[in-house]
Amino acid sequence: MNFVKDSVNQQPIVDTVFVIVDRAKKAKAQFGEDAVVDATIGSLYDEGGSLVALDTVFDSLKQLDNRTLAKYAASFTGNPDYREAVERWVLGGNSHLFREVIATPGGTGAVGMTVNECLEPKQTLIAPEIAWGSYDLMAQMHGVDVAKYSLFDGDHFNMDSFERTCRAVMEKQDRLVIIINDPCHNPTGYSLSEAEWKRIIDFLNECAKTHAVVLLNDIAYIDYSYRGDEAKRYFRVFDDMSDNMVVIVAFSLSKSMTSYGLRCGAAIILGKTKAAVDQVRTVFEKDARATWSNINNGAMAMFVDVMNARKDAYLAEKQNYVDLLKTRSDLFMKEADEAGLAYYPYKEGFFVTLKMDNATRDAYHEALMAEHIYTVKVNKGIRVAVCSLPVDKTRGLAKRMKEILDRI
Ligand code: PLP
Repeated sequence: MNFVKDSVNQQPIVDTVFVIVDRAKKAKAQFGEDAVVDATIGSLYDEGGSLVALDTVFDSLKQLDNRTLAKYAASFTGNPDYREAVERWVLGGNSHLFREVIATPGGTGAVGMTVNECLEPKQTLIAPEIAWGSYDLMAQMHGVDVAKYSLFDGDHFNMDSFERTCRAVMEKQDRLVIIINDPCHNPTGYSLSEAEWKRIIDFLNECAKTHAVVLLNDIAYIDYSYRGDEAKRYFRVFDDMSDNMVVIVAFSLSKSMTSYGLRCGAAIILGKTKAAVDQVRTVFEKDARATWSNINNGAMAMFVDVMNARKDAYLAEKQNYVDLLKTRSDLFMKEADEAGLAYYPYKEGFFVTLKMDNATRDAYHEALMAEHIYTVKVNKGIRVAVCSLPVDKTRGLAKRMKEILDRI
């Protein structure tokens, strides 16, 4: 007897990350911290092994009036001052398109809402073949299929695979809904160049001659780019998109503010025509009201306060961790290059991912754990979370990992 929809897959979620995080924790308790390399945790940790919680952010949150924390938001689309602050922070002066901002519970809310509202059941979502695991789950829960494009051709974006995947989906349906997680792609750390973005938009403009195109740009890690404000310049390329296209930028405070648990983010809808943006906004607003109703008012108020009254202090504090991430990733890659350990073309972000086929990966992942090195398996790779790996644990790691790889 089914108490839930017949169409929904009833297999429980296998949280492979949690299982390995737990194994690493137990190994630390048994063998001591020094004996274990824990590169599993996907949040930002400092050199002392503590979760980073930015003072500027949480000082702001704690000075808010209790009533601000208690009350409902002013609107189902989020508070107007929050929506304005998000637009200014994310787009800066880099977009001249029509836009609307809808507050969402994290980036998850923005991505999930797009999958849910832009595709009919049984249609196909396009996503990268190496990706954040939730995309597949969202598609599954909404009864949507997924077509995957391969990410790399050598050290560059695989434009051929992207085009082929889009063309195959266009044969079957009237629209394209495509996820591009950039910059600081999870889990490879790749960021598209402006020239690569231009080719993508040129190609999608061709597709838009016959099909509606929705590009979901997941920017969850953008504020950890090593290029600062330059990392947001590529939004200018979207100005050249066709009338038959919208871009939905999925923004998240989780990483940008180190406020993962406050569950706040936004969907920024961009379009060449007001009518296109309004259509998406109307449906997203109804979805928001029907699904979560309201976004955390305190989190929105905190973001506005940080942007208006503490921005310089916030930027300076965050920059320390951007620099730390660069120190860790530079060291890991330098030693990986010296040892001949292959990884995907990392530019910036929380993770470096070793490149390998899935059969090698499975055996290797076990072999690493036998040596007390804990990592996370991803499609065609092993994810090394430099975001939580102190420099002294990073030093020498690539060489050890290569030696273990050579033995299996
Ligand atoms: N997108 C990517 C690629 C992520 O890795 C994550 C979180 O890990 C998210 C979006 C959404 O996170 P949140 O819902 O906490 O904003």
